[in-house]
Amino acid sequence: MIQIRNLHKSFDDLHILKGIDLEVGSGETVVIIGPSGSGKTTLLRCLNLLETPTSGSLELGALHLTFTPGKPLRRDETLALRRETGMVFQSYNLFPHMTALQNLMEGQVTVLGRSKAEAREKALQLLKKVGLADRADMYPHQLSGGQQQRVGIARAMAMDPKVLLFDEPTSALDPELVGEVLRVMKELAQEGMTMVVVTHEMKFARDVADKVVFIDGGVVVEQGPPEQVFEATQQERTKQFLNKLS
Ligand code: ATP
Repeated sequence: MIQIRNLHKSFDDLHILKGIDLEVGSGETVVIIGPSGSGKTTLLRCLNLLETPTSGSLELGALHLTFTPGKPLRRDETLALRRETGMVFQSYNLFPHMTALQNLMEGQVTVLGRSKAEAREKALQLLKKVGLADRADMYPHQLSGGQQQRVGIARAMAMDPKVLLFDEPTSALDPELVGEVLRVMKELAQEGMTMVVVTHEMKFARDVADKVVFIDGGVVVEQGPPEQVFEATQQERTKQFLNKLS
């Protein structure tokens, strides 16, 4: 589904991603872990072109994009990739002046051109799926952080993306609200949604990931199934990182 080859990203003189190779299979959940500042969020943002990679290539389904310094992507290429990816942000990023239902309808109507009736039906279905059918008419400020994030996930799903990208989706939540969001994510993973998740939730990584990718200093240090990365760790840097957490 996704193939990343030799991806680099610099911000001016700061070389952040230093040649990332990564594959995400259809229906897989890939969890990216690593120390603060290692480039996890930057990598995720490169996957939907919120950041433009400096060089390397990215394939998503039938889309093949090559990045060359000084040569910007065509607008249609950027839009095509964005269409295929749904992003869930740490800080939810809901439209504050819209109800939960309207948040889910907006992109469907304006970007996908669905009728309001169709968009509304899909939105209600998805709100039910994330356990918020009874909150459809509430505004973000009337919802808890966990509920807002579940709306954020449903909103990303409403666009029928090929892949969902999660950027530390539970980091801003009070501890007692983390579980309800992780449960929704686990359900999606079990239903075969393709997901790339940046998180510090190691239990989620162990339980749900098909593949865990440890990034440090802008390179993939180690990757594999969770039992391999956590229980049969190969690299000293990964061991040090995991030891610090326990
Ligand atoms: P954390 O776990 O703390 O969120 P991370 O692994 O997700 O960290 P990134 O957010 O990708 O790390 O940041 C990697 C490095 O890139 C950091 O040093 C950060 O300051 C730098 N960086 C990120 N975005 C920009 C930007 N727009 N301009 C300049 N530097 C940036």
